[in-house]
Amino acid sequence: MNELPSITSITGRIIHNSRGSKTIEVDVMSDGTHLGRACAPSGASVGKYEAQSFPEGGPEKSLEILKVNAGRFVGLDAGDLESVHAAVRAIDGSADYGMIGGSVAYAVTIAAADSAARARDMPLFRLLSGAGTFRFPYPLGNILGGGAHAGPGTPDIQEILIAATGAKSVREAVETNLAIHRELGRVILERDPGFSGGRGDEGGWAPETDNYGALEMATRACERLGYAPGREVSLGVDFAASTQWNGNTYDYRRGGFENDAGEQIEFASDIIKKYKLAYAEDAVHEEAFEQMSELARRFPGVMITGDDLTVTNAAILQRAIDCGSCNAAILKVNQAGSLQDAMEFARLADRNGISLITSHRSGESTDSQISHIGIATGSKLLKVGIVGGERVAKLNELLRLEEHDLICGMARIRDRT
Ligand code: PGA
Ligand code: ZN
Repeated sequence: MNELPSITSITGRIIHNSRGSKTIEVDVMSDGTHLGRACAPSGASVGKYEAQSFPEGGPEKSLEILKVNAGRFVGLDAGDLESVHAAVRAIDGSADYGMIGGSVAYAVTIAAADSAARARDMPLFRLLSGAGTFRFPYPLGNILGGGAHAGPGTPDIQEILIAATGAKSVREAVETNLAIHRELGRVILERDPGFSGGRGDEGGWAPETDNYGALEMATRACERLGYAPGREVSLGVDFAASTQWNGNTYDYRRGGFENDAGEQIEFASDIIKKYKLAYAEDAVHEEAFEQMSELARRFPGVMITGDDLTVTNAAILQRAIDCGSCNAAILKVNQAGSLQDAMEFARLADRNGISLITSHRSGESTDSQISHIGIATGSKLLKVGIVGGERVAKLNELLRLEEHDLICGMARIRDRT
Protein backbone atom coordinates (compact mmCIF):
# COMPACT_ATOMS: atom_id res chain seq x y z
CA MET A 1 0.00 0.00 0.00
CA ASN A 2 1.37 3.37 -1.01
CA GLU A 3 0.51 6.22 1.37
CA LEU A 4 1.27 8.89 -1.18
CA PRO A 5 0.22 7.67 -4.59
CA SER A 6 1.69 10.05 -7.12
CA ILE A 7 0.08 10.90 -10.43
CA THR A 8 2.00 9.41 -13.34
CA SER A 9 -0.37 10.30 -16.19
CA ILE A 10 -3.59 12.09 -16.97
CA THR A 11 -5.57 11.69 -20.17
CA GLY A 12 -9.00 12.75 -21.37
CA ARG A 13 -11.47 11.66 -24.02
CA ILE A 14 -14.86 12.68 -25.32
CA ILE A 15 -17.72 10.28 -24.63
CA HIS A 16 -21.52 10.70 -24.34
CA ASN A 17 -23.85 11.22 -21.40
CA SER A 18 -27.29 9.67 -20.83
CA ARG A 19 -28.90 12.31 -23.05
CA GLY A 20 -26.49 11.46 -25.84
CA SER A 21 -24.58 14.75 -25.57
CA LYS A 22 -20.82 14.94 -25.74
CA THR A 23 -18.97 15.18 -22.49
CA ILE A 24 -15.49 14.67 -21.15
CA GLU A 25 -14.04 11.71 -19.26
CA VAL A 26 -10.66 11.82 -17.54
CA ASP A 27 -8.31 8.99 -16.55
CA VAL A 28 -5.81 9.64 -13.78
CA MET A 29 -3.14 7.01 -13.23
CA SER A 30 -1.17 6.85 -9.99
CA ASP A 31 2.14 5.04 -9.61
CA GLY A 32 1.60 3.73 -13.13
CA THR A 33 -0.98 1.25 -11.84
CA HIS A 34 -4.03 2.71 -10.14
CA LEU A 35 -6.59 4.01 -12.58
CA GLY A 36 -9.13 6.58 -11.41
CA ARG A 37 -11.77 7.58 -13.91
CA ALA A 38 -14.53 10.18 -13.89
CA CYS A 39 -16.97 11.54 -16.46
CA ALA A 40 -18.61 14.97 -16.14
CA PRO A 41 -22.43 15.11 -16.01
CA SER A 42 -24.54 17.96 -17.38
CA GLY A 43 -27.76 19.74 -16.48
CA ALA A 44 -30.83 20.79 -18.50
CA SER A 45 -32.10 23.40 -16.06
CA VAL A 46 -28.78 25.07 -15.47
CA GLY A 47 -28.49 27.87 -12.90
CA LYS A 48 -27.28 31.25 -14.11
CA TYR A 49 -24.33 31.26 -11.71
CA GLU A 50 -23.07 27.72 -12.23
CA ALA A 51 -19.56 26.98 -13.45
CA GLN A 52 -19.46 26.97 -17.24
CA SER A 53 -19.32 23.34 -18.41
CA PHE A 54 -17.14 23.95 -21.45
CA PRO A 55 -15.29 26.89 -22.96
CA GLU A 56 -16.17 28.25 -26.36
CA GLY A 57 -15.11 25.43 -28.66
CA GLY A 58 -16.85 22.81 -26.50
CA PRO A 59 -15.47 19.55 -25.14
CA GLU A 60 -12.89 19.42 -27.94
CA LYS A 61 -11.36 22.68 -26.73
CA SER A 62 -11.35 21.43 -23.11
CA LEU A 63 -9.57 18.30 -24.20
CA GLU A 64 -6.98 20.25 -26.12
CA ILE A 65 -6.20 22.46 -23.09
CA LEU A 66 -6.02 19.44 -20.80
CA LYS A 67 -3.60 17.71 -23.15
CA VAL A 68 -1.25 20.69 -23.31
CA ASN A 69 -1.27 21.02 -19.50
CA ALA A 70 -1.24 17.34 -18.49
CA GLY A 71 2.36 17.60 -17.28
CA ARG A 72 1.34 20.00 -14.49
CA PHE A 73 -0.42 17.16 -12.67
CA VAL A 74 2.38 14.59 -12.92
CA GLY A 75 4.10 14.02 -9.58
CA LEU A 76 1.25 15.39 -7.46
CA ASP A 77 -0.17 13.27 -4.66
CA ALA A 78 -3.43 12.01 -6.22
CA GLY A 79 -5.11 12.07 -2.81
CA ASP A 80 -4.19 15.69 -2.11
CA LEU A 81 -7.34 17.33 -3.39
CA GLU A 82 -6.07 20.84 -2.64
CA SER A 83 -2.96 20.40 -4.81
CA VAL A 84 -4.89 18.86 -7.69
CA HIS A 85 -7.42 21.69 -7.45
CA ALA A 86 -4.59 24.25 -7.35
CA ALA A 87 -3.11 22.76 -10.53
CA VAL A 88 -6.49 23.15 -12.28
CA ARG A 89 -6.67 26.72 -10.98
CA ALA A 90 -3.17 27.45 -12.30
CA ILE A 91 -4.51 26.66 -15.77
CA ASP A 92 -7.85 28.43 -15.32
CA GLY A 93 -8.14 31.12 -12.66
CA SER A 94 -11.47 32.46 -13.96
CA ALA A 95 -14.46 32.63 -11.60
CA ASP A 96 -16.56 30.19 -13.64
CA TYR A 97 -13.93 27.87 -15.18
CA GLY A 98 -14.79 29.48 -18.50
CA MET A 99 -11.34 28.78 -19.93
CA ILE A 100 -10.86 25.06 -19.39
CA GLY A 101 -14.47 24.17 -18.55
CA GLY A 102 -16.01 23.13 -15.23
CA SER A 103 -16.38 19.64 -16.69
CA VAL A 104 -12.61 19.25 -16.71
CA ALA A 105 -12.33 20.59 -13.15
CA TYR A 106 -14.95 18.02 -12.15
CA ALA A 107 -13.47 15.06 -13.96
CA VAL A 108 -9.82 15.72 -13.05
CA THR A 109 -10.42 16.24 -9.33
CA ILE A 110 -12.77 13.26 -8.97
CA ALA A 111 -10.63 10.94 -11.10
CA ALA A 112 -7.55 11.86 -9.01
CA ALA A 113 -9.38 11.12 -5.75
CA ASP A 114 -10.72 7.90 -7.26
CA SER A 115 -7.21 6.87 -8.23
CA ALA A 116 -5.83 7.68 -4.76
CA ALA A 117 -8.60 5.68 -3.08
CA ARG A 118 -7.72 2.67 -5.22
CA ALA A 119 -4.00 3.08 -4.51
CA ARG A 120 -4.64 3.27 -0.78
CA ASP A 121 -7.17 0.46 -0.97
CA MET A 122 -9.84 2.45 0.82
CA PRO A 123 -13.33 3.50 -0.23
CA LEU A 124 -13.56 6.96 -1.76
CA PHE A 125 -15.85 8.29 1.00
CA ARG A 126 -13.12 7.49 3.54
CA LEU A 127 -10.47 9.27 1.53
CA LEU A 128 -12.67 12.37 1.34
CA SER A 129 -13.57 12.59 5.01
CA GLY A 130 -11.71 11.92 8.22
CA ALA A 131 -14.96 11.47 10.16
CA GLY A 132 -15.04 8.54 12.58
CA THR A 133 -18.49 7.34 11.61
CA PHE A 134 -20.63 7.80 8.56
CA ARG A 135 -24.33 7.52 7.77
CA PHE A 136 -26.19 6.75 4.59
CA PRO A 137 -28.20 9.47 2.93
CA TYR A 138 -31.76 8.46 2.00
CA PRO A 139 -32.11 8.02 -1.74
CA LEU A 140 -34.37 10.72 -3.16
CA GLY A 141 -35.75 9.84 -6.58
CA ASN A 142 -37.80 11.35 -9.35
CA ILE A 143 -41.11 9.50 -9.85
CA LEU A 144 -42.77 11.97 -12.23
CA GLY A 145 -41.11 14.56 -14.38
CA GLY A 146 -42.12 17.64 -16.36
CA GLY A 147 -40.66 21.09 -17.02
CA ALA A 148 -37.26 21.09 -18.72
CA HIS A 149 -36.97 17.30 -18.33
CA ALA A 150 -40.01 16.20 -20.35
CA GLY A 151 -42.07 17.18 -23.39
CA PRO A 152 -45.33 19.08 -24.02
CA GLY A 153 -48.39 17.95 -22.07
CA THR A 154 -46.41 17.10 -18.95
CA PRO A 155 -46.62 19.29 -15.80
CA ASP A 156 -44.74 22.57 -15.54
CA ILE A 157 -43.27 21.36 -12.25
CA GLN A 158 -39.95 19.71 -13.05
CA GLU A 159 -39.84 16.85 -10.56
CA ILE A 160 -42.05 15.01 -8.11
CA LEU A 161 -39.77 13.11 -5.77
CA ILE A 162 -39.99 10.34 -3.21
CA ALA A 163 -37.75 9.34 -0.30
CA ALA A 164 -38.47 6.40 1.96
CA THR A 165 -37.53 8.33 5.09
CA GLY A 166 -39.01 5.67 7.36
CA ALA A 167 -36.72 2.96 5.95
CA LYS A 168 -34.23 1.29 8.26
CA SER A 169 -31.70 0.40 5.56
CA VAL A 170 -30.52 1.46 2.12
CA ARG A 171 -32.00 -1.70 0.65
CA GLU A 172 -35.42 -1.01 2.11
CA ALA A 173 -35.24 2.62 0.97
CA VAL A 174 -34.23 1.72 -2.60
CA GLU A 175 -36.87 -1.00 -2.88
CA THR A 176 -39.61 1.25 -1.51
CA ASN A 177 -38.76 3.95 -4.06
CA LEU A 178 -38.80 1.35 -6.84
CA ALA A 179 -42.17 0.00 -5.71
CA ILE A 180 -43.72 3.48 -5.61
CA HIS A 181 -42.31 4.33 -9.04
CA ARG A 182 -43.78 1.08 -10.42
CA GLU A 183 -47.16 1.63 -8.75
CA LEU A 184 -47.32 5.18 -10.06
CA GLY A 185 -46.90 3.77 -13.59
CA ARG A 186 -50.03 1.67 -12.97
CA VAL A 187 -51.96 4.63 -11.55
CA ILE A 188 -51.12 6.73 -14.61
CA LEU A 189 -52.14 3.97 -17.00
CA GLU A 190 -55.49 3.48 -15.24
CA ARG A 191 -56.21 7.18 -15.56
CA ASP A 192 -55.00 7.36 -19.17
CA PRO A 193 -55.13 4.02 -21.04
CA GLY A 194 -53.32 5.74 -23.94
CA PHE A 195 -50.21 6.44 -21.77
CA SER A 196 -47.13 5.34 -23.70
CA GLY A 197 -44.99 4.68 -20.62
CA GLY A 198 -42.76 7.62 -21.56
CA ARG A 199 -40.26 8.87 -19.02
CA GLY A 200 -38.37 12.13 -18.55
CA ASP A 201 -34.60 12.59 -18.57
CA GLU A 202 -34.19 11.31 -15.00
CA GLY A 203 -36.46 8.28 -15.32
CA GLY A 204 -39.59 9.77 -13.73
CA TRP A 205 -42.83 9.07 -15.63
CA ALA A 206 -43.83 11.81 -18.09
CA PRO A 207 -47.63 11.61 -18.38
CA GLU A 208 -50.00 14.16 -19.86
CA THR A 209 -51.32 15.87 -16.77
CA ASP A 210 -51.16 19.14 -14.88
CA ASN A 211 -49.28 19.93 -11.67
CA TYR A 212 -52.07 18.95 -9.29
CA GLY A 213 -52.99 15.83 -11.31
CA ALA A 214 -49.37 14.70 -11.01
CA LEU A 215 -49.30 15.27 -7.25
CA GLU A 216 -52.63 13.48 -6.76
CA MET A 217 -51.42 10.44 -8.69
CA ALA A 218 -48.12 10.37 -6.77
CA THR A 219 -50.04 10.45 -3.48
CA ARG A 220 -52.38 7.70 -4.67
CA ALA A 221 -49.45 5.46 -5.64
CA CYS A 222 -47.98 5.79 -2.11
CA GLU A 223 -51.31 5.17 -0.42
CA ARG A 224 -52.15 2.12 -2.52
CA LEU A 225 -48.97 0.52 -1.20
CA GLY A 226 -49.94 1.41 2.37
CA TYR A 227 -47.53 4.33 2.77
CA ALA A 228 -48.76 7.66 4.08
CA PRO A 229 -46.82 10.63 2.65
CA GLY A 230 -45.31 12.52 5.57
CA ARG A 231 -45.08 9.30 7.62
CA GLU A 232 -43.36 6.21 6.16
CA VAL A 233 -42.40 8.03 2.98
CA SER A 234 -41.87 11.67 2.08
CA LEU A 235 -42.93 13.44 -1.07
CA GLY A 236 -40.86 16.26 -2.47
CA VAL A 237 -41.04 18.69 -5.36
CA ASP A 238 -38.33 20.39 -7.38
CA PHE A 239 -40.26 23.39 -8.70
CA ALA A 240 -37.19 24.54 -10.68
CA ALA A 241 -39.08 27.85 -10.70
CA SER A 242 -36.42 29.70 -12.70
CA THR A 243 -37.74 27.79 -15.73
CA GLN A 244 -41.08 29.65 -15.35
CA TRP A 245 -39.68 33.02 -14.28
CA ASN A 246 -39.74 35.50 -17.16
CA GLY A 247 -38.32 38.44 -15.23
CA ASN A 248 -41.77 39.61 -14.13
CA THR A 249 -43.98 36.66 -13.43
CA TYR A 250 -43.87 32.89 -13.18
CA ASP A 251 -45.40 31.82 -16.47
CA TYR A 252 -46.95 28.35 -16.17
CA ARG A 253 -47.46 27.86 -19.89
CA ARG A 254 -48.59 24.26 -19.78
CA GLY A 255 -50.95 24.96 -16.87
CA GLY A 256 -52.20 28.18 -18.51
CA PHE A 257 -51.68 30.56 -15.56
CA GLU A 258 -49.21 33.11 -14.29
CA ASN A 259 -48.11 33.85 -10.73
CA ASP A 260 -46.64 37.09 -9.51
CA ALA A 261 -44.00 36.83 -6.77
CA GLY A 262 -46.58 36.76 -3.96
CA GLU A 263 -48.83 34.28 -5.75
CA GLN A 264 -45.87 31.96 -6.31
CA ILE A 265 -45.24 31.80 -2.56
CA GLU A 266 -48.91 30.91 -1.99
CA PHE A 267 -48.84 28.36 -4.84
CA ALA A 268 -45.79 26.63 -3.35
CA SER A 269 -47.16 26.87 0.22
CA ASP A 270 -50.45 25.32 -0.87
CA ILE A 271 -48.64 22.37 -2.49
CA ILE A 272 -46.32 21.91 0.50
CA LYS A 273 -49.30 21.75 2.90
CA LYS A 274 -51.75 19.79 0.75
CA TYR A 275 -49.30 17.05 -0.19
CA LYS A 276 -47.40 17.09 3.12
CA LEU A 277 -44.11 17.68 1.36
CA ALA A 278 -40.95 17.05 3.34
CA TYR A 279 -38.86 18.65 0.62
CA ALA A 280 -39.34 21.72 -1.60
CA GLU A 281 -36.55 22.73 -4.00
CA ASP A 282 -36.26 26.05 -5.86
CA ALA A 283 -39.87 27.01 -5.20
CA VAL A 284 -38.97 30.52 -6.34
CA HIS A 285 -36.50 31.72 -8.94
CA GLU A 286 -32.73 31.69 -8.57
CA GLU A 287 -32.36 35.29 -7.42
CA ALA A 288 -35.39 35.42 -5.09
CA PHE A 289 -33.47 35.13 -1.80
CA GLU A 290 -36.12 37.10 0.12
CA GLN A 291 -39.03 35.04 -1.18
CA MET A 292 -37.20 31.83 -0.32
CA SER A 293 -36.71 33.13 3.21
CA GLU A 294 -40.47 33.63 3.51
CA LEU A 295 -40.94 29.93 2.71
CA ALA A 296 -38.15 28.92 5.11
CA ARG A 297 -39.91 30.93 7.84
CA ARG A 298 -43.28 29.39 7.09
CA PHE A 299 -42.04 25.79 6.92
CA PRO A 300 -39.20 25.18 9.38
CA GLY A 301 -39.95 21.44 9.37
CA VAL A 302 -39.70 21.11 5.59
CA MET A 303 -36.41 20.98 3.72
CA ILE A 304 -36.62 24.33 1.93
CA THR A 305 -33.85 23.67 -0.55
CA GLY A 306 -31.71 25.79 -2.84
CA ASP A 307 -30.39 24.36 -6.08
CA ASP A 308 -30.37 27.03 -8.81
CA LEU A 309 -30.50 29.47 -5.87
CA THR A 310 -27.24 28.31 -4.28
CA VAL A 311 -25.49 26.56 -7.25
CA THR A 312 -22.95 24.80 -4.98
CA ASN A 313 -21.19 28.15 -4.62
CA ALA A 314 -19.94 28.99 -1.12
CA ALA A 315 -20.22 32.78 -1.60
CA ILE A 316 -23.81 32.46 -2.83
CA LEU A 317 -24.67 30.04 -0.02
CA GLN A 318 -23.32 32.60 2.44
CA ARG A 319 -25.79 35.12 1.02
CA ALA A 320 -28.62 32.57 1.38
CA ILE A 321 -27.55 31.94 4.98
CA ASP A 322 -27.48 35.68 5.73
CA CYS A 323 -31.01 36.04 4.31
CA GLY A 324 -32.31 32.87 5.98
CA SER A 325 -33.34 31.67 2.53
CA CYS A 326 -33.02 27.92 2.99
CA ASN A 327 -32.40 25.21 5.53
CA ALA A 328 -31.12 22.75 2.91
CA ALA A 329 -29.00 22.94 -0.23
CA ILE A 330 -28.21 20.78 -3.23
CA LEU A 331 -24.57 19.82 -3.78
CA LYS A 332 -23.75 19.20 -7.44
CA VAL A 333 -20.00 19.10 -7.92
CA ASN A 334 -20.19 20.27 -11.52
CA GLN A 335 -22.13 23.40 -10.54
CA ALA A 336 -19.12 24.37 -8.43
CA GLY A 337 -16.45 23.05 -10.79
CA SER A 338 -13.91 21.07 -8.80
CA LEU A 339 -14.49 18.61 -5.98
CA GLN A 340 -12.48 20.93 -3.73
CA ASP A 341 -14.93 23.79 -4.41
CA ALA A 342 -17.83 21.45 -3.60
CA MET A 343 -16.21 20.23 -0.36
CA GLU A 344 -15.75 23.86 0.75
CA PHE A 345 -19.44 24.46 0.05
CA ALA A 346 -20.28 21.36 2.11
CA ARG A 347 -18.19 22.58 5.05
CA LEU A 348 -19.92 25.98 5.00
CA ALA A 349 -23.33 24.29 4.91
CA ASP A 350 -22.37 22.05 7.79
CA ARG A 351 -21.12 24.90 9.97
CA ASN A 352 -24.43 26.69 9.47
CA GLY A 353 -26.83 23.79 10.00
CA ILE A 354 -27.83 23.62 6.35
CA SER A 355 -28.78 20.05 5.38
CA LEU A 356 -27.09 18.79 2.24
CA ILE A 357 -28.54 16.86 -0.66
CA THR A 358 -25.86 15.46 -2.97
CA SER A 359 -27.34 15.29 -6.44
CA HIS A 360 -26.91 13.87 -9.94
CA ARG A 361 -27.63 15.90 -13.08
CA SER A 362 -30.25 15.05 -15.67
CA GLY A 363 -27.47 14.20 -18.17
CA GLU A 364 -25.45 11.53 -16.33
CA SER A 365 -22.85 8.81 -16.77
CA THR A 366 -22.80 5.40 -15.13
CA ASP A 367 -20.17 6.62 -12.62
CA SER A 368 -21.02 6.19 -8.97
CA GLN A 369 -18.56 8.43 -7.11
CA ILE A 370 -21.35 10.78 -6.05
CA SER A 371 -22.69 8.07 -3.76
CA HIS A 372 -19.38 8.33 -1.87
CA ILE A 373 -19.48 12.13 -1.98
CA GLY A 374 -22.97 12.02 -0.46
CA ILE A 375 -21.69 9.90 2.42
CA ALA A 376 -18.46 11.89 2.90
CA THR A 377 -20.34 15.20 3.10
CA GLY A 378 -22.87 13.88 5.62
CA SER A 379 -25.68 14.50 3.14
CA LYS A 380 -29.16 13.71 4.41
CA LEU A 381 -30.43 12.78 0.96
CA LEU A 382 -28.85 11.47 -2.22
CA LYS A 383 -30.83 12.66 -5.22
CA VAL A 384 -29.99 10.21 -7.97
CA GLY A 385 -33.25 9.00 -9.51
CA ILE A 386 -34.81 5.56 -9.29
CA VAL A 387 -34.62 3.78 -12.65
CA GLY A 388 -32.34 3.94 -15.71
CA GLY A 389 -28.83 2.46 -15.79
CA GLU A 390 -27.11 5.76 -15.01
CA ARG A 391 -29.37 6.26 -11.94
CA VAL A 392 -29.32 2.66 -10.70
CA ALA A 393 -25.49 2.72 -10.83
CA LYS A 394 -25.46 5.18 -7.91
CA LEU A 395 -28.04 3.21 -5.92
CA ASN A 396 -26.23 -0.07 -6.51
CA GLU A 397 -23.05 1.51 -5.13
CA LEU A 398 -24.95 2.40 -1.94
CA LEU A 399 -26.10 -1.22 -1.70
CA ARG A 400 -22.49 -2.41 -2.02
CA LEU A 401 -21.42 0.07 0.64
CA GLU A 402 -24.08 -1.28 2.96
CA GLU A 403 -21.63 -4.16 3.51
CA HIS A 404 -19.12 -1.67 4.98
CA ASP A 405 -18.93 -1.48 8.77
CA LEU A 406 -17.71 2.12 8.92
CA ILE A 407 -21.19 3.33 7.92
CA CYS A 408 -23.67 3.15 10.78
CA GLY A 409 -27.23 3.28 9.55
CA MET A 410 -29.29 5.96 7.87
CA ALA A 411 -28.98 9.75 8.14
CA ARG A 412 -30.95 11.49 10.86
CA ILE A 413 -32.99 13.84 8.82
CA ARG A 414 -35.40 14.85 11.53
CA ASP A 415 -32.62 16.25 13.78
CA ARG A 416 -33.17 19.65 12.31
CA THR A 417 -36.76 20.14 13.45
P1 PGA B 1 -30.56 19.48 -14.22
O1 PGA B 1 -31.80 19.41 -13.22
O2 PGA B 1 -29.58 18.46 -13.88
O3 PGA B 1 -31.25 19.24 -15.54
O4 PGA B 1 -30.03 20.88 -14.12
C1 PGA B 1 -31.77 18.84 -11.99
C2 PGA B 1 -32.33 19.77 -10.97
O5 PGA B 1 -32.79 20.88 -11.28
O6 PGA B 1 -32.30 19.42 -9.80
ZN1 ZN C 1 -33.22 21.40 -9.06
